Amino acid sequence: MNPIFSELPTTVFEVMSRLARETGAINLGQGFPDDPGPEDVRRKAAEAVVSGWNQYPPMMGVPELRQAVAAHYRHHQGVGLDWEREVMITSGATEALAGALMALIEPGDEVVLFQPLYDAYLPLVLRAGGVPRFVRLEPPHWRFDEDMLAKAFSPNTKVVLFNNPLNPAGTVYGRADLELLARFCVAHDAVAVCDEVWEHVVFDGLSHLPLIAMPGMRERTVKIGSAGKIFSLTGWKVGFVCAAPEILRVLAKAHQFLTFTTPPNLQVAVAYGLGKDDAYFRDMRDGLQRSRDRFASGLAARGFSVLPSYGTYFLNVDLAPLGERDDVAFCERLVREFGVAAIPVSAFYARDAIRSVVRFCFAKTDAVLDGALARLETAA
Ligand code: PMP
Ligand code: GLN
Repeated sequence: MNPIFSELPTTVFEVMSRLARETGAINLGQGFPDDPGPEDVRRKAAEAVVSGWNQYPPMMGVPELRQAVAAHYRHHQGVGLDWEREVMITSGATEALAGALMALIEPGDEVVLFQPLYDAYLPLVLRAGGVPRFVRLEPPHWRFDEDMLAKAFSPNTKVVLFNNPLNPAGTVYGRADLELLARFCVAHDAVAVCDEVWEHVVFDGLSHLPLIAMPGMRERTVKIGSAGKIFSLTGWKVGFVCAAPEILRVLAKAHQFLTFTTPPNLQVAVAYGLGKDDAYFRDMRDGLQRSRDRFASGLAARGFSVLPSYGTYFLNVDLAPLGERDDVAFCERLVREFGVAAIPVSAFYARDAIRSVVRFCFAKTDAVLDGALARLETAA
């Protein structure tokens, strides 16, 4: 049996959600919102099923959605894309990541990964034969600098896998960070696979900057997005991949044998949704920011040391000031004794883990957040 997969633990999101179901805990672990998603977008998906969008759509995605993705990124991020040659639809960002890594990495190629890392990254890199080179980020700011990149890049670097905004840290990297990373990618002739699924979920007046727009990156970036996070519809698994034609052509070869395509009714509904006016995206951000602030102040009032979160659905607390240095044991206690599920951030490290940080998902109704806070009254 393949040791990479046979020795892997079950993903922490599944473990914690199962535990939450079994114990009746409030689930602030796995990142999914309470918000049912925009009704008009859901209605479009239902209508599309009834009206006949039910057979295999084109492998690259339905043209309506590929055009909508290009128009959406032009409008929101100033990125110009040729929808016919530079946009492909996948079954979620997860498939896009798997396909990109399968297509771009050859055994022995080095891949720069930033820890904390989304849990799918490392198994996919290893299975593709990649050799991981880690940049280790630390709380409270989770920043990287030139020295850290210089230690991770080498003449064998083929791919850099970067997540911005960063799950679980809630960091939003700005122009100076991205330009620094771009400089290293160009100098090492590396391709950046940039996971931007949280691109619309940024707070405090910040705006998301796509790595593909940085100097020298247009021809060497794979930009990955997901409708799940844009419309609070995480179960839909409709992803977008944007890249220069030479790269996208290779990624399409992987996609054709991974899933080939994605449910067509969901694609046409997402195409419709991406055209929503700016107010929709602003309201979504404002609503989530209010939830973040409500939960952060509630945690702080209960004695938790809350780390800053500038994006994503997530907020972290640092347990070190409480003298607690085992995030896994703390989360076990939280779910069993206090009835609240959270995620230990050490699960996002492959080595040299940070063990004192715990992640909560705040994309919940006020009632759920307040209910969780009431249970956490004496947890700190
Ligand atoms: N990348 C990151 C950083 C994520 O947080 C998630 C899920 N929240 C994904 C990828 C997976 O996205 P999808 O559900 O579209 O596959
Ligand atoms: N991305 C979600 C999170 O970070 C989980 C997705 C999953 O369950 N695979 O919580």
